[in-house]
Amino acid sequence: MAKENPTENNLFKNIVSHAKEYGFVFPSSEIYDGLQAVYDYGQNGVELKNNIKNVWWKTMTQLNDNVVGVDAAIFMHPTTWKASGHVDGFSDPMIDNKDSKKRYRADQLIEGKAEELEAAGKKAEADALVKKLARLLEADDLKGVQELIINEKIVCPISGTSNWTEVRQFNLMFSTQIGSVAEEADLIYLRPETAQGIFVNFLNVQKTGRMKIPFGIAQIGKAFRNEIVARQFTFRMREFEQMEMQFFIRPGTEMEWYEKWKETRLKWHKAIGLTADKLKFHDHEKLAHYANAAVDIEYQFPFGFKEIEGIHSRTDFDLGNHEKFSKKKQQYFDNDINKNYVPYVVETSAGADRVFLAVLCNAYTEETVGEGEDKKQRVYLKLHPALAPVKAAVLPIIKKDGLPEKARKIYDDLKLDMRVIYEEKDTIGKRYTRQDLIGTPFCIAVDHQSLEDDTVTIRHRDTTQQERVSIAELKQKIRREVSYKRIFEKI
Ligand code: ATP
Repeated sequence: MAKENPTENNLFKNIVSHAKEYGFVFPSSEIYDGLQAVYDYGQNGVELKNNIKNVWWKTMTQLNDNVVGVDAAIFMHPTTWKASGHVDGFSDPMIDNKDSKKRYRADQLIEGKAEELEAAGKKAEADALVKKLARLLEADDLKGVQELIINEKIVCPISGTSNWTEVRQFNLMFSTQIGSVAEEADLIYLRPETAQGIFVNFLNVQKTGRMKIPFGIAQIGKAFRNEIVARQFTFRMREFEQMEMQFFIRPGTEMEWYEKWKETRLKWHKAIGLTADKLKFHDHEKLAHYANAAVDIEYQFPFGFKEIEGIHSRTDFDLGNHEKFSKKKQQYFDNDINKNYVPYVVETSAGADRVFLAVLCNAYTEETVGEGEDKKQRVYLKLHPALAPVKAAVLPIIKKDGLPEKARKIYDDLKLDMRVIYEEKDTIGKRYTRQDLIGTPFCIAVDHQSLEDDTVTIRHRDTTQQERVSIAELKQKIRREVSYKRIFEKI
């Protein structure tokens, strides 16, 4: 495995503890010691995640007049997964170390070795290794993958030995049974991607919505994969959420739409606040069974550049196969060219949890402030105001003289428009710090002057600068800053 930079490693550890300490992410069923690669979102995490999902949803269905949404069930007819290729092909190559009894993804062991070579300045060797791996996987040569692991002297990080089993394919779908009587029960799967719920509804939506090609169908929902190696917190989970859009087009136009969606999606990630030079495209070395072009948008996490979204040109693979397996035509009559065809598809598929993690890593800021004896560390979340779990905190500077009543009035008015907090406990400084830690962009302090001239101070999270504004203009001002419009303007 590639060695991680110790400073970046510590940074990620700090982010993970911050996420737990301030109510963003908890291990699932923690009182029973948790469940590997399954996580729960806490009181602040759920707000941040909902905001990310809402911005995505509105970007797709509100800013594009030819994209509509669906919400399909998690359970689907089992033949769906035959048609999609998941029953036969949705697997990862795994290998066990006989000494430590630990299981690894064979491709990830080799990729780790390549990262190590690259870090040591041997880029050409690293590239050659990645290419060799892609060739072997393409040819389904599992023996060759095992030999590569042995020849490259890759050892198990736990036992330190290269006493490996052969490489086997492991299907990632979770299965369960539907039906109340065991003998009659049918094997069904928890969906490993949301895309198929869109494909099977293609004609329903096209006909009932009178949609004309090109058009898209968007969906946000849970997906499940029995990942062999779960690592890096919420980056690789067994239960996660996808934000997917399938864009149906005329065959032959796919590269044009592929390029368009690539650029549009990259812009979106920048618009929600991810640092531009921490984002990049990564073309797939090995194309999935359904794709004729594929690229990942990667974000530079503290543990390296990793995929947060995939853009795939899926051809007519899915609709074509559903037509074959269901024996129901999945065609569209194109008036413009007077022809029937099975549409081609360009897909944008983002993980809500991975975007969440990228946003959290990007926002987490440790700064040293003050001089000499007063020097201390300040930690805050530099979240885009439109994504922040709490938009503003209303804080009377003391708990008497009518200040709480005045502050409550402001709070009652603001809460009709946005998520706000009212707090009167502890010193104002401590209350500011608490809001910084969860990324609240604005703190509104109510003081004695407020009683006289109906003004308050607004403290800005990132700069800690304060400004005095009239209560009358307060709402407008904050509403403008926290509006999704701020994001839409940049897309
Ligand atoms: P990876 O190569 O990291 O396993 P993938 O290429 O299999 O990902 P896709 O099938 O393209 O992923 O899924 C689309 C998106 O769903 C990914 O970009 C990612 O954001 C998200 N995703 C996929 N698997 C997981 C997972 N196990 N946990 C969290 N998010 C995931």
